[in-house]
Amino acid sequence: MSKTFETLQPYLDKAMAFQTARNLFEWDDQTVAPFEAADYTSKVVGIISDEYMKCLINDDVRKLIKKLSEEKEQDELTDKEKAIIKELNKTYEQLESIPPEEYRAFNELALVSNRAWTKAKKDNNYEYFAPYLKKIIEYKKKFAGYRAKKNQDPYEVLLGDFEECFGIKELDVFFDKIKSEIVPLLKQISKKSDTIDKSYNFLKYDVNKQKAFCKYLSGYLGFDFNRGVIAESAHPFTLDLHNHDVRITNNYKENNLESAMFSIIHETGHALYEMNIDDSLTQTPVGSGTSMGMHESQSRLFENIIGRSEAFWAPIYSKLVETYPENLKNISLEHFLKGINKAEPSLIRTEADELSYPLHVIIRYEIEKAIFAGDADVDKLPELWNKKYQEYLGLTPTNDAEGILQDIHWSYGEFGYFPSYAIGSAISSQLYAKIKEVMPVDEYLKEGNITPIREFLRDSIHKYGATKNTNQILKDITGEEFNADYYVEYLKEKYESLYSL
Ligand code: ZN
Repeated sequence: MSKTFETLQPYLDKAMAFQTARNLFEWDDQTVAPFEAADYTSKVVGIISDEYMKCLINDDVRKLIKKLSEEKEQDELTDKEKAIIKELNKTYEQLESIPPEEYRAFNELALVSNRAWTKAKKDNNYEYFAPYLKKIIEYKKKFAGYRAKKNQDPYEVLLGDFEECFGIKELDVFFDKIKSEIVPLLKQISKKSDTIDKSYNFLKYDVNKQKAFCKYLSGYLGFDFNRGVIAESAHPFTLDLHNHDVRITNNYKENNLESAMFSIIHETGHALYEMNIDDSLTQTPVGSGTSMGMHESQSRLFENIIGRSEAFWAPIYSKLVETYPENLKNISLEHFLKGINKAEPSLIRTEADELSYPLHVIIRYEIEKAIFAGDADVDKLPELWNKKYQEYLGLTPTNDAEGILQDIHWSYGEFGYFPSYAIGSAISSQLYAKIKEVMPVDEYLKEGNITPIREFLRDSIHKYGATKNTNQILKDITGEEFNADYYVEYLKEKYESLYSL
């Protein structure tokens, strides 16, 4: 380790401690904290965030990063240290532009706004949430404005925070391709929706049995319960403190068998990424997944491509039938597979099938783009939302709880995040094409052997943390950068065959 880097290390350690504490509060807030905790707890979180900023943004650290960015110093650094300096320069660019008091005020607002969203969604009352959303947007616009390069769209700045390899130009191309191929395909399929019976999915499924089966599924995929826990929250998510403490949540619905099962497979995909980050990287600025798009590729690979395949269910379907014989004893594996792959337009993104899913993302992307371009009135967002659902999915929400209020993200200012879900699906198809080339993946799955797939992902993606970006990882594995053709081909092939088109 270089002398200069050694001087920087204690600042990084302290910043990491505050970040870990902040994450722990976030976890607590989403899982077990009582409703009225927010008013006071948000102040505590504000102070912790403030201290985090102070550890990273100060004259000493500024000087050290500047020095460590010089060529002479760079020669002395290991690859890991170089990646950390690159990441810190990015963080500096992000954080230093924001006055600390505004940053703190925003963090406090985000917590309160999130509570307001929870209440608004429960009461189906968008008007209650709208004033908070307006304030959140104002802050995000202001923060993005501080960082935008000349003539740069503020939304482009926000997109870059989640996926540096994709801007508005790349996303417009990607989404236009999806719209032109998938909207017509989905229309064809909706005419044949009666051909697949899925009524078994909506019978009564005991929630405690669901919990046990989901825990089994997570362990089956390789979730390490000595380094992770599963809790409950309104909206499933994954949060890591470090690679020895990775937490996921799930949400169980008594009248929907699939919902919790595929959520847990999804979140386990995220968790495996974080658990497999190399020990030398965890608790450093490059110690998490490299981007939201790459993260989603891992969750979606397990949730959709693997988790909805015949090879995956062949060895374990009987266990599911044994758990709910009253509902499933007459449902064959073939019937079940058709059910879990059934595609039909729907209103809720998190419940959407694999085919219509990207259209939900495109709607959010287009609305976010309009908000940040100043083309959308926040009070009228529900109307815009409903219009787009009618256009792409042929459905109109009957209320805002199943419309614009359904997702948590905007309530705490996460704009620019949604596209990563669709990017992730597309990456997972590109990765899977390669996995099929290098191993007999169906044979492994039929034997109940997930290990070779997990090890492939660990060795080619997970262990690197954020030391390589999305396109570098894809290029090293597949020989090419992001290519959405694999995704479109995968979806068309799968659904044309399923519906005999
Ligand atoms: Zn996810």
